[in-house]
Amino acid sequence: MKYKAFAAFAAGVMLAATSLAGCAGVEAEHAKHEHDWGEWRETPPTCTAAGKRERVCKTDPSHVETQEIPALGHEWSKEWTREENGHYHVCDRGCGERVMEAPHTFVRGACSVCFVR
Ligand SMILES: [Zn+2]
Ligand SMILES: [Zn+2]
Ligand SMILES: [Zn+2]
Repeated sequence: MKYKAFAAFAAGVMLAATSLAGCAGVEAEHAKHEHDWGEWRETPPTCTAAGKRERVCKTDPSHVETQEIPALGHEWSKEWTREENGHYHVCDRGCGERVMEAPHTFVRGACSVCFVR
């Protein structure tokens, strides 16, 4: 599936990649009718994985239009999360990822980074 590999690559670069995946190799077929598209069905993207939108032709269900929805990227909290032994920022989208995780560096009783006491 060359298209799939390309779409995965392009998802990070382009806002949306559109292709008539179901029509590959049947170019002559499309000319025979106006597609009568059904409702979009959406698989939402996450922080790290692209989602997609898909709709199926009511006239010929082998015609499927797919649009990639790029991954959202993490939304790092502005506030430090402070634990007994260290501090970090969590992703506000709730994916559980952390960044800048490090032990507290106490200077006169308070952490010089997150200011926990
Ligand atoms: Zn069609
Ligand atoms: Zn995230
Ligand atoms: Zn700290």
